[in-house]
Amino acid sequence: MPIPQQFLEESFQIEAPSGYENTVRRAIASLLPDAKFGKGRKISVEVKSKEQSICVTVELEGLEGKKSYVDTERFAEDEKRLRTRERIRAGVFAVISLAYNIPPSPWGTLVGVRPTKLVHALYDEGKSKEDIANFLSDIYQVSKEKIDLLFQVADKQREFFHPSPKGPISVYLGIPFCPTRCGYCSFAAYPLKSHGHLVADFFEALCCEIKEIGTLLKDLAVPVESIYLGGGTPTTIRGRNLEILLALVQEYFGESYKEFTVEAGRPETLTKNTVHILAQADVTRVSINPQTMRQKTLDRVGRSHTVGDVLVAFENCRSYGSFLINTDIILGLPGERVYDVEYTLTQLQPLKPDNLTVHSLAMKRAADWRQIFDELDLAQQEGAQMLALASQYASEWGMEPYYLYRQRYILSDLENIGFAPLGTESIYNIQMIEEKQSIIGLGGGAITKFIGGINGRRISRHANPKCPATYAKSIQEIIADKKSQLVKYFSV
Ligand code: SF4
Repeated sequence: MPIPQQFLEESFQIEAPSGYENTVRRAIASLLPDAKFGKGRKISVEVKSKEQSICVTVELEGLEGKKSYVDTERFAEDEKRLRTRERIRAGVFAVISLAYNIPPSPWGTLVGVRPTKLVHALYDEGKSKEDIANFLSDIYQVSKEKIDLLFQVADKQREFFHPSPKGPISVYLGIPFCPTRCGYCSFAAYPLKSHGHLVADFFEALCCEIKEIGTLLKDLAVPVESIYLGGGTPTTIRGRNLEILLALVQEYFGESYKEFTVEAGRPETLTKNTVHILAQADVTRVSINPQTMRQKTLDRVGRSHTVGDVLVAFENCRSYGSFLINTDIILGLPGERVYDVEYTLTQLQPLKPDNLTVHSLAMKRAADWRQIFDELDLAQQEGAQMLALASQYASEWGMEPYYLYRQRYILSDLENIGFAPLGTESIYNIQMIEEKQSIIGLGGGAITKFIGGINGRRISRHANPKCPATYAKSIQEIIADKKSQLVKYFSV
């Protein structure tokens, strides 16, 4: 779903066959998030279904012409329903886009966060590349460029998948504190200035969770393939506490990991001492996230660090460790244009990041941003150009796309892409997005995902509280719950 050009409070009256009204409502809302339903502009959907074909026609009051889609394949009953829903969505997207001047999305009507999962599912069903490409193009109207991207990413990922989601697994640890809160943030990230007094209890609870869950995983003989310390900004934990934390991670999860990432959300936290501690603890991958190298933009989005801090962080990591360095940028930050993205990339080039993660701005805290929407000065028309430019730089730096995901209200309805040279792809990023491996989440806001069912289609998610105080207060219940879930999951 793109960031809307405007928030229109249009009201619609839906006329659709029973059981399909919600499909129409959801399709409209994904293009016009403030749309109301009940009385209003009439949108009619007609579905004709014969043994061999489905014909869907969508008409919007006041708009000349209607959109019709005909499928002539034979379908099983449940598949027919699914196909009908997709056809309705395509029709609604077509008439609403036309009537409200919404540019077509390169992703067509494919709206999920993890589009590569669909490709993997079709591969798992034994479908050929040609069948998958036709399916994506005919049913979801995905552009050729995006279909090619999906194959490029999915084909690379398959070698990372294991026969069972139960082992090896990954471990995620969430530290929900940051120096300040970025304007676009939707993560568990509490500013230190206002919430710093919660760090001590949170830290104690996290250590307890690591010990208890780590002991159980050892008892259950579950191997850990990758560890990800994220947040928030994990490197807000410093000095002796950071040493203690990393030593515990090593003791309880460190037997067999191939990758240990620490996400230094804010570059100013990567001091010499912190980098030294990370190196001592055998961290393999560090993420330094400038987001932009324009100081004016950093100030505007409340990141409270300087471009100089980014340079120092790189220098410290190169001098005191031998990590793979990932760097994150965001396309379409307030006030930025294509030339600002190019400026950022030219500034990063001499730093030689090993991986590049390109995010397209997402208005996650839509409610907050909406109040100042006009002041944001978003270059919504330039998103595709920005992404093409960043992809070109990544390619010149010898990197290829290896994971991607999409978000709600994302710039130009694009995606976020991780780029890496062959052999340096982040295992955790692939497993986390593709959901082929169970992930045990510890700490603030961390989500544990148990993957089960045929081809991993049944996923149960369990989230730790985001609030550090709630987390610390309820740590014993959290541990008890998680232990019983782990035993149940791994003992079957
Ligand atoms: S650094 Fe990341 S986690 Fe922290 S406030 Fe900014 S976006 Fe949120």
